[in-house]
Amino acid sequence: MFSLADRSVIVTGGTKGIGRGIAGVFARAGADVAIAARSSDEIDSAVAELSGVGDGRIIGVVTDVSNRSSCDEMARTVLEAFGAIDVVCANAGIFPEASLETMTDAQLSQVLDVNVKGTVFTVQACVSSLTESGSGRVIITSSITGPITGFPNWSHYGASKAAQLGFMRTAAIELAAQGVTVNAIMPGNVLTEGLVEMGEDYIAGMTRAIPMKALGTPEDIGHLAAFLATREAGYITGQAIAVDGGQVLPESPDALPA
Ligand code: NAP
Repeated sequence: MFSLADRSVIVTGGTKGIGRGIAGVFARAGADVAIAARSSDEIDSAVAELSGVGDGRIIGVVTDVSNRSSCDEMARTVLEAFGAIDVVCANAGIFPEASLETMTDAQLSQVLDVNVKGTVFTVQACVSSLTESGSGRVIITSSITGPITGFPNWSHYGASKAAQLGFMRTAAIELAAQGVTVNAIMPGNVLTEGLVEMGEDYIAGMTRAIPMKALGTPEDIGHLAAFLATREAGYITGQAIAVDGGQVLPESPDALPA
């Protein structure tokens, strides 16, 4: 039960943060893992780190998810290397800040291009392989921000993360008859390179807001992704699951334990 040993997996944004955590969990479980991102240096270092941690093959594919042909090329490369694509983790995403009052067209487009179009392009590029797999899996990294909560300067980001869930629900219906499930993970605050850039005050404030009193780890997200990727999870589709240490639960700060 619960084996990923014969599964071929793509993780976009797999060089850092949550994506690297997801790729590591799959690699340790023995899957063939393709890590996709833009920086070839960071791909090389992630591939070197994960090679040999499990029995599967680890490859890197330079990809810009905001570009449809780059995603198509990614899928072709992985299919050639592994002979199948069973699982796609559409995880690559960006979260630059911009206030509602000053946000430019360019800032809005950049976030929507990477987070929304990038998710759609990634899934579209892999859809025929996922269908052939017979137990294809799409796992989208959304967020609690947008679908459940809000945070100043992230209105464009929140919109992009909620849009991913709208995409997920219809994609889940369209692909269900082919045995492909489409689900999303909504991480709370996870200690990643991207989050560290938000600064110590942000991290301290977030830690106080989490009932479990700790930020998540990339592996916390990877463990749910791994379960959703199994054949045993084949009857779960179109769902968004928060992994957040209880962050969305308190009605007010007074509801938090001291
Ligand atoms: P991160 O540490 O900044 O890593 C982002 C990853 O995405 C990197 O591998 C980056 O590599 C890649 N990437 C960025 N733009 C790309 C593009 N156009 N094409 C391909 N790859 C691209 O970010 P993270 O914190 O792990 O976040 C990953 C995902 O989790 C995002 O979707 C984010 O919205 C979501 N999330 C994060 C948190 C959190 O607390 N950290 C919470 C909720 C949701 P390159 O720059 O080399 O391309």
